[in-house]
Amino acid sequence: MKACVFCKIVNGELPATKLIEDKKAVAFLDINPVNHGHILVVPRKHYETVMDIPGKELGKVMEMVPPLAKAVTEVTNADGLNVFQTNKPCAGQTVPHVHVHIIPRHKNDGFHFGWRQGRYSEGEIDRMQWGILKALGE
Ligand code: AMP
Ligand code: ZN
Repeated sequence: MKACVFCKIVNGELPATKLIEDKKAVAFLDINPVNHGHILVVPRKHYETVMDIPGKELGKVMEMVPPLAKAVTEVTNADGLNVFQTNKPCAGQTVPHVHVHIIPRHKNDGFHFGWRQGRYSEGEIDRMQWGILKALGE
């Protein structure tokens, strides 16, 4: 995709601090890190979201996560780590090319997801299960 920032990075048209790459995926440092060592892993091929990418291709992206997570934890002396992914602007996606964030975390680093968890009312969770299974074709 011509105008896509991550396609440009993958193709070498835009500079990036690359870490590892193979036939299917590329990992590089996020230019505006939540914490130092914040990494992005992207598929070489342009897919907008996880709703578009085949599972096998996403698998190739995810294969890079454990070794990178281990290495960056060691280098940054992180206390923990988030693996995070956004799809569509309402979920925080600013670059419409699938990417996985690897974010080293430190005690009291001040980064919060601000999750607000709700509840299902009577029967709602079963209807949800039924709806998803139907959509899956089960
Ligand atoms: P998201 O908000 O989940 O779509 O994440 C997009 C991420 O891409 C953000 O964390 C940006 O800081 C990062 N980003 C945008 N442009 C570049 C770039 N040229 N090089 C490295 N990271 C980038
Ligand atoms: Zn792209």
